[in-house]
Amino acid sequence: MTGPFPALPAKLHPLVSAFLDTPDAVAQTLTRFGSPAHLVFPQVFAENLTSLRDVLDRRTPRHRICYAHKVNQSRALVRTAEQAGITIDVASTHELASAAGAGFDPPRIEVTGPKGEAFLRDLIDHGATINVDNLWELRRIAELAGDLPVPVLLRVAGFAAGQVSRFGVPLTHTRQALDLLTEQCEHIEFLGFAFHLDSGDLGERVRAIDACLALVERAYDCGLAPSVLDIGGGFRQVFTADAEQFDNYVLALRESLLGRREPMSWGSNTFGYHISGSAVHGTPVFHKYANTVPASTMLADLLDAPLPGHGGRTVAQVTGDNLLELWLEPGKSLVDHAGITVASVQFVKQTSDGSVLVNLDLSRDSVTPADQEVMVDPIVLPRAVRQAASTGLDPALGRSESGPVGVYFAGQLCLERDLITNHKVWLPAPPRSGDLIVFPNTGAYHMDLSAASASMHPPPGKLAVTYGAGDFQVVRDIDYEPPVALDPPHSAIPHPGHRPTRPVRSVETH
Ligand SMILES: *Cc1c(COP(=O)(O)O)cnc(C)c1O
Repeated sequence: MTGPFPALPAKLHPLVSAFLDTPDAVAQTLTRFGSPAHLVFPQVFAENLTSLRDVLDRRTPRHRICYAHKVNQSRALVRTAEQAGITIDVASTHELASAAGAGFDPPRIEVTGPKGEAFLRDLIDHGATINVDNLWELRRIAELAGDLPVPVLLRVAGFAAGQVSRFGVPLTHTRQALDLLTEQCEHIEFLGFAFHLDSGDLGERVRAIDACLALVERAYDCGLAPSVLDIGGGFRQVFTADAEQFDNYVLALRESLLGRREPMSWGSNTFGYHISGSAVHGTPVFHKYANTVPASTMLADLLDAPLPGHGGRTVAQVTGDNLLELWLEPGKSLVDHAGITVASVQFVKQTSDGSVLVNLDLSRDSVTPADQEVMVDPIVLPRAVRQAASTGLDPALGRSESGPVGVYFAGQLCLERDLITNHKVWLPAPPRSGDLIVFPNTGAYHMDLSAASASMHPPPGKLAVTYGAGDFQVVRDIDYEPPVALDPPHSAIPHPGHRPTRPVRSVETH
């Protein structure tokens, strides 16, 4: 929305835009499959994969992309990854079964994260590559190994000036790890070193790579021959369509927290800010929504970064010089813009403090973990045919039925905390019962991370949406089968689709 009202316009993939713009497409989907629903777009996933692959292909011939399954439980996306010929990173018995069921054979599966005894035993039987988290795991693998050596990566952590991580073997303990790997070389096939950083900081990744290269040398000195450098995931998403509007919203929110303008947060939420006197301090929980650098640029910048102590040679050149295969474990960057969540407005009401609540048939945990806050505006798809009797507006609102209104989206649970947005969202007009609300870009760590079945509400159904032969097809996620060659979405999209600049679009009937 432009004008005086703070707005957080979402960046949308043109394919998703085209789907939302197709008259009745979303409404018919919910009529057929039920509301609410999570929709995934395998063609967008395939396009994200292509752009990361292009960056790698241009710089390093030897690389491997392992899709980090944990970002989304979708079978359609796992099948798409399998069909595209990449590998997969799983972090539980269930993800392992999902990957195997989708056609990944053991050489194409890597297992990360903490693993208990039972999972380790399964993995050794299975034959997948184990990305080792700690020294106990490494010892246990040596003890449990059968006739064939177990393929292993060693995850390391504790790089200079980085955050402390609960995962990985601290650099200061790598001596013990190297001794074990050398002693146990009959039981363990040591592939190389790995790390994974949540940070978006280029320098931190370069330092981690530098530390791993030093470890590669030490490993050679011990008689080992590592051939892999696994740089993990952490390549970021771009949620916002307009960085300036995002900054203006955040500025307004900070002003409102200081009482200098109308309230913009539900209850006592401060989103991780600390308010002291006349100032707002700290980093908000939603800082990732401000990112404007696409994952492919982040990856290119990393591979092109000169490594200190290597005569100006870049990360890509030095790994190539050392005959190391570069592994990546992207999760959210592959699923960026490949998922949305759609819910229905049940009713609109006003609370005792005058706040307007738009109540949906969805709960907060279906779109975000409780401690986060989704900072992109939901999109309203008004119901095409309105019945006078079901405007859904509380007469106490006392407003005309048009005109901008700041609202909070509320969830369906009978719990005070079930607000879907704890920050105010401005809409050009109050929604009505039966309008559809689209939450953009929920594919990664939003729709599947913390969803529960509180109050016995089943989680939203999951559907896969593709475009081909002049139309959108929607099937249940578990029934989706990728075509042998996926159409790149850009050539397939009906109308390239304009970027929405306002959270409301109208859907016409025909
Ligand atoms: C979660 C995780 C990833 C994926 O991270 P993204 O930030 O989604 O790219 C990769 N590797 C490991 C070890 C992880 O735990």
